[in-house]
Amino acid sequence: MKLHWFALPFIWLLSFEAWGNLGNSNSSSQKEDLNKMLGHLTTQLKEDYDLNLLPQIRVLREQSKQLGEKRLQAKSLLLEGLIRQHFGDYKNSLVLHNDALNIVSGMNAPDLEASIYLALAQLEMSLERFRFAQQLLERAYTLITKRVSAEQVEQLLAEYALWQGTLHIMRGSYRQALSILSSVVSQEQKELSIKLALARAWAHLNIGEHLNASKLLQSVAGEKSALQKNLKLRVRYKLMSAMAFLQDGQFTNAIDEANEALGETFGTRFLTEQSMLQNTLAGAYAQLGDFEQAHLYLKRFAMTEQALNLQKRNNKLLQLEAQYTLAAQKQQLSVLEKDNALQAQQLIQHQQKIDNAHLAQQRGVLGMLLVALVFGFGYWRWQNKRYLTVLKQQVAERTAELAERNKRLQALSFTDSLTGLNNRHYFFSVIDAQVNSSAVATHAATSEKHEMIFCLLDIDHFKKVNDSYGHAAGDTVLQSVADILKQCTRDSDLVIRWGGEEFLMVMPNMTHAEATEAVERVRRQVECFPFVVNEQAIQVTCSIGFAPYPLSNEGGKSLTWEQVLELADNGLYMAKEESRNAWVGLKGLSRPFNAPTEQLISDYKKLISNGQLLASTSYET
Ligand code: GH3
Ligand code: MG
Ligand code: MG
Repeated sequence: MKLHWFALPFIWLLSFEAWGNLGNSNSSSQKEDLNKMLGHLTTQLKEDYDLNLLPQIRVLREQSKQLGEKRLQAKSLLLEGLIRQHFGDYKNSLVLHNDALNIVSGMNAPDLEASIYLALAQLEMSLERFRFAQQLLERAYTLITKRVSAEQVEQLLAEYALWQGTLHIMRGSYRQALSILSSVVSQEQKELSIKLALARAWAHLNIGEHLNASKLLQSVAGEKSALQKNLKLRVRYKLMSAMAFLQDGQFTNAIDEANEALGETFGTRFLTEQSMLQNTLAGAYAQLGDFEQAHLYLKRFAMTEQALNLQKRNNKLLQLEAQYTLAAQKQQLSVLEKDNALQAQQLIQHQQKIDNAHLAQQRGVLGMLLVALVFGFGYWRWQNKRYLTVLKQQVAERTAELAERNKRLQALSFTDSLTGLNNRHYFFSVIDAQVNSSAVATHAATSEKHEMIFCLLDIDHFKKVNDSYGHAAGDTVLQSVADILKQCTRDSDLVIRWGGEEFLMVMPNMTHAEATEAVERVRRQVECFPFVVNEQAIQVTCSIGFAPYPLSNEGGKSLTWEQVLELADNGLYMAKEESRNAWVGLKGLSRPFNAPTEQLISDYKKLISNGQLLASTSYET
């Protein structure tokens, strides 16, 4: 291998310059530097495939990646791919080409894409996978003719023709190869022109047209500097020349040319060229009758072929491996993508679950709060109700209690504690109602009126009882008199302790005669009652006066019940005055009394004596 050591420091310098520029923010100048670096590397590559270029290519790739320069990045990948392809590292070369294709497919760079397809086609051709090579060439052709811009079309078409022609030659379609190779217009780029001419020459030689081949080779010979620069081209040119000489019968020339070329291939990996040169040499020596040399070169040819076949086999294996790796990578990628999608979906589902759980939790809490609120409210209402019921009950109880107390109080206030009879308060509370409800009827048999009799009773000389036997004895007498009065009256009659030793009886629905009977019975009962005081029996008498209500005064004004009571009191006074232990009962008016009723009360004695006020007494008058 011929190394261009002199170029390396320059490229290193460039790469460091590029690194240094990264520190500056001037990205356009960086881009310019990187482009310069690419130009140098490409030139270097054309002259020779040098493994020492790989670090610089890597630097170029890293920097263009950092700058976001995809085109440069793809080109650096292509360069490395080409070097690796040249050194038989088909596996990595394929990976690099594919990486480049991946970068380019996202950009609008049909020229670059077409170049990658062409490179891939060469790769496939090296592996003798012609069908794939053909497919890739077709893709490149479509891109070139349909999408590539006019200024780039010509060169790319020439490159395409070169490789399509080469493929035809490899498949044995020499005429087809010639037709496509000769369709290309002459190229500015010397290397490409030489390559095209050499390919055409090769096709001609394959069909024995050595004159045509020689013509083409003569034109190539004119491009001395280009041949000088490119070892492979030089070797190929000499190989073709040797083959042309051989076909033309110039065996010595053929041997010279082939030997020279073979000398140049020492230390290179140009196995194909070497084997062809050895074959040519063997043929030329055989033609010259030098069978020893011919045999020697045939043996070398066989060995080189063997090595070539081995290399091809290895390459095929490597390529298969590479394809397998790629497929596995793709599969892994799609699995990863699916996994990612699945994970994303799971994440979404998980998030949704969390959201749902949160929602459910919130709902639950809200629900619980609501339930608690409802329960709380219900409990509060229930408690309130219960409390109210208890309160109502208490109020009712208290009210009932109060009513009972009031009743008892009223009863107490209406009752005389000594005798158990009702008192004056009671009388005043009921008398109006009694007076209003008492109907005045006339007795059928006696034609006497049934009236309400107001009857007053006073114990005679009671002071004496008190004085003689003590106040307690007086009390006992009062109690006994009360009992007698109760016995002598009806349930419907009112018996009232009017005050001191005075009692009032109100007896409704009673005739005057019935009243006289009743008061007489009372008088006698008291008179006859054995009052026991200090274990000593004493006699007590009483005086009574009564009057009826209403006291009829036809044509005149009627008396009120209060006036009737006064009249009864007058009767009592009269009984006291006249005899004691007696009664005076007023019956009514014999004729109407037209003077004011007050006068009737005050003049009652005169009226009795003149017969206007009718009265009956227990004593003789
Ligand atoms: P007369 O026949 O004129 O009615 O004579 P009298 O002594 O009854 O006269 P008067 O009505 O003036 O006297 C009533 C007396 O009754 C005076 C009073 O001390 C007595 N007295 C009044 N209330 C009670 C009582 O509750 N108990 C006792 N023991 N005596 C009473
Ligand atoms: Mg009295
Ligand atoms: Mg008295």
